[in-house]
Amino acid sequence: MLQPAALARDPLAAPRASRARFRLPFMEIKRGIPVAPGVAIGPALVLDTEGFRIPRRCVQRQQVKDELDRLQEALRASAADARANQQAVSAKLGQQYGGIFGAHALLVEDVSLARELESLIREQSFTAEYAVSRVMRRHAKALESIDSGGLATRAADLFDIEKSILGHLLGQRREQLADLQEPVIILAHDLTPSETAALDPRHVHAFATESGGRASHTAIMAGVLEIPAVVGLGKFVTDVSGGDMVVVDGNRGVLILNPDDETLDRYTRAQTSFRSFESGLVELRDLPAKTKDGASVQLLGNIEFPSEATHCQDRGAEGVGLYRTEFLYLGKETDPTEAEHLDAYLTVLRTLGPAKPVVIRTLDLGADKFSSAAEPTPEERNPFLGVRSVRLCLRNLTLFKTQMRAILRASAWGDVRIMFPMVSTLLELRQCKMILAEVKEDLEEEGIAFNRDLPVGTMIEVPSAALVAEQMGREVDFFSIGTNDLIQYTLAADRTNEAVATLYSPGDPAVLRLIDIVVKAAEKHGVAVNVCGEMSGEPIYTMLLLGLGIRQLSITPHNIPEIKKLIRSITMAEAAEAAREVMRLETARDVNNYLREQTRRVLPEVVS
Ligand code: PEP
Ligand code: MG
Repeated sequence: MLQPAALARDPLAAPRASRARFRLPFMEIKRGIPVAPGVAIGPALVLDTEGFRIPRRCVQRQQVKDELDRLQEALRASAADARANQQAVSAKLGQQYGGIFGAHALLVEDVSLARELESLIREQSFTAEYAVSRVMRRHAKALESIDSGGLATRAADLFDIEKSILGHLLGQRREQLADLQEPVIILAHDLTPSETAALDPRHVHAFATESGGRASHTAIMAGVLEIPAVVGLGKFVTDVSGGDMVVVDGNRGVLILNPDDETLDRYTRAQTSFRSFESGLVELRDLPAKTKDGASVQLLGNIEFPSEATHCQDRGAEGVGLYRTEFLYLGKETDPTEAEHLDAYLTVLRTLGPAKPVVIRTLDLGADKFSSAAEPTPEERNPFLGVRSVRLCLRNLTLFKTQMRAILRASAWGDVRIMFPMVSTLLELRQCKMILAEVKEDLEEEGIAFNRDLPVGTMIEVPSAALVAEQMGREVDFFSIGTNDLIQYTLAADRTNEAVATLYSPGDPAVLRLIDIVVKAAEKHGVAVNVCGEMSGEPIYTMLLLGLGIRQLSITPHNIPEIKKLIRSITMAEAAEAAREVMRLETARDVNNYLREQTRRVLPEVVS
């Protein structure tokens, strides 16, 4: 059992001088997966798995007494909860199990714990929440670091107790991230795509999460917000308290907790040089994406929200290659109406003008993206392989047709194209097209204007679709290769799971063979082929994709200038040679090393 007295000593306590500067005693460096570039330095805002945010806050001196009363009240309530749990569990399972909660109660009632918390509040004017979070986490961390299995698991008890006391202090309220007033760096176990979408980049300067993979929708949203982000860092949230200084290096995938002065200096300089590299790219906006030997490549933007059409314009995109419309549904209580769809699409068209292509992808809900209206059913044990995307739409024709009507109506106002996601069989593609034909007929009968020749495309993001691309090519106007899912389904490696991140590589020979099949099928049928997964915005793959025959890339707008700069620095002959060499290599590691070297040769700054 946990010994309350053992918690009185604070093995990680900082000397007073450094406490006064709000620093933890030791710098810690964590490595994860870089998903959005840039460097941010600032105070941490920790969201634990329960979503409590415990910022480092102080109260006025005259409020210290109130804070001490609140603490006493919360400790009393928390001890009462533990005693009630002890009784209930003892009655049901026996005294030995109830004893666990008895020990919780003893700890919460321990005078040395109360004294420690009170002195933090009295001497440093901390809020009761912050004092609790800081003390409990520090002790938990100390227990975890002791090399004895039993003690490490006791740390979980401390987190339970912390949660219970905080629950009483916060009255179970969760402060809204949307209410932030000052710059912070969000640190969390995980963020859902809709939580990420709700972050305000004016105040949230970066985020770092314990879980998540390179192509998770949370990672994609970081690119949309244009803030540095690192995911898949492994366990670190319990090592940090709100307000601690942290550095997020979104270029290298590094999180630094409590940087020392030298590191802070180095990163301040890195931040400045990254900003000047970025601003140097601005002048590329109106230059063509042409290789040195004159081959043109079309660079389009990926968007999630209509307002991002402006980002596309600012970064010189020639249109929108992927509009992920499911973000219209996320976090909403009810599904958007036809008028709301239409309004969103027309906003994009108004920003880009009628001549630029806008590829609207039909709803891709499911897997890691859920609207309130389409929560996973309990039996959906494997949502990435379940009723997602067109599978969901084909079972809910009202939903599907509502969106199709809006897309068709928007097509009367500009170069709108429709694209179906997650198509895995030819039959599915035909079903989607059949429903589109029905919706066209309805609109015609109602006398509503639309483009009869609206181009129709399919995403190729399931290996089965890539393998039958030759057949699909006869039935569509364009392909768009969604490498985010194509990689996950080819390698059976969850795109959101950091534990399989090394398997999940765009450079895997199996993935490259599928891309090659699709490009050849497209050439055979004269249909356009685009790559719209995150791979298209990663500089090391540009040469390869061009060399394989891709002439259209759809990219997070933020990455367009960099990719354009790279395209303007190479020849198509070099790209073809690189692709030939890559197709001879046998492992993702060899492919990635080779491409990194080739890219470094032509544009070293994008590789480092
Ligand atoms: C993809 O899978 O590559 C893709 C572009 O779609 P999403 O990331 O939205 O699944
Ligand atoms: Mg996809």
